Amino acid sequence: IKIKITNIDIPVAFASAFEGEIIRRKDMRVEFDGSRVDCAELVHTCDASEVEDHKITVVGPEVDEMEDGSKNSIAYVVKVSGKNMQPDFEPVIERKFHNYINCIEGVYHTGQRDMQRIRISHAAFDAGFRIKHIGEVLYTQVKNEFDAVVDKCEVVIYTDPAECTRVRHEVAIPIFEKRDDRLANLTDESVDVYYSCILCQAFSPSHVCVVTPERLGLCGAVSWLDAKATYELDPNGPCQVITKERPINEELGAYEDVDEAVQKLSQGALEHVTLYSIMQDPMTSCGCFECICGIEPFSNGVVIANREYAGMTPLGMTFSEMASMTGGGVQTPGFMGHGKHFIASKKFMKAEGGIERIVWMPKELKEFIADKLNATAKDLYGIDNFTDMIGDETVATDPETLVGFLTEKGHPALALDPMM
Ligand code: SF4
Ligand code: ZN
Repeated sequence: IKIKITNIDIPVAFASAFEGEIIRRKDMRVEFDGSRVDCAELVHTCDASEVEDHKITVVGPEVDEMEDGSKNSIAYVVKVSGKNMQPDFEPVIERKFHNYINCIEGVYHTGQRDMQRIRISHAAFDAGFRIKHIGEVLYTQVKNEFDAVVDKCEVVIYTDPAECTRVRHEVAIPIFEKRDDRLANLTDESVDVYYSCILCQAFSPSHVCVVTPERLGLCGAVSWLDAKATYELDPNGPCQVITKERPINEELGAYEDVDEAVQKLSQGALEHVTLYSIMQDPMTSCGCFECICGIEPFSNGVVIANREYAGMTPLGMTFSEMASMTGGGVQTPGFMGHGKHFIASKKFMKAEGGIERIVWMPKELKEFIADKLNATAKDLYGIDNFTDMIGDETVATDPETLVGFLTEKGHPALALDPMM
């Protein structure tokens, strides 16, 4: 029998009540910022002989030795071993770090992988909170929640800048790339099952994500491999197997199996859901979509806006205005929430012609996805540098100017059938 540890040995409180806590610059003692300096967070599966349970090591300066208000590097490697542990579980455990660290009173965490950001408040520091306590939290929570697979757990936290650079570039990034490559080589046709995710039903009761290799969850955080690992870690948990043995229309991505699953999981609120159409029975959206796409009737295309974009789109709506008509677990043909990485997928709106329908995106999003999107456009239609044909806020935020730009670039959407 494994005993759950309920108390964490840290000098501040630990509770989900602190999850939403924001620490302002003036209240912060130190900050760690993966977007500015080398940072990383990683779960690493090791042999049992390489892991000393509950050992926590800090390599580099503690908070006391960092300047008040300074920006620093941090990289933590959580080494785990266990006979049921699989490398596929690593990202599922890593994703929980955000939640664990945020539950610490006076500590704030956002982001993941090598882009995390952490703030420790003056109050937490004054109470005696130090870097090593982050290790204590990670150790305790990983052992608590993943005891089915993790037998031993050791945490090494690097704050020495040179070590952070080494860990980020030589250890973490190669692992992240390997994970992404595994997924990149999978197609919806090459797997036997899809997965549902209902994690968001807490606030969006009829919402169901159907996660496939080529269509990740709309939050951007649940890939098919993650959903599979989540199911294997907890067969009664938020992700369930959806078979795909009874296709209705493969162009639309309609399956009897998928319909049955969403009917059951939405308690009857949904009857039919397609995987590849934005017009016919599109997937529902909760509230945490990374992006929303919506039809733009003047160009026969779609506009995509990401959450970070605060400006106007050619639909005459901002992201939040689009969000107010898309969320809540209801189907709204013509509008759909989705993850950033879905944009470059060969399955993106496949039923309506695919990515050649994309006519506008905020510049930042376009640059983020450019390499992958251009590769997909080359593959599907033989178009080079497709993103050059897509408008952004520097070109147009109204439909007339946008259509002028698309005409000049010879954008393929203009020649397609209207979507409605
Ligand atoms: Fe799961 Fe993400 Fe979909 Fe929520 S948005 S149900 S977390 S895949
Ligand atoms: Zn959600």
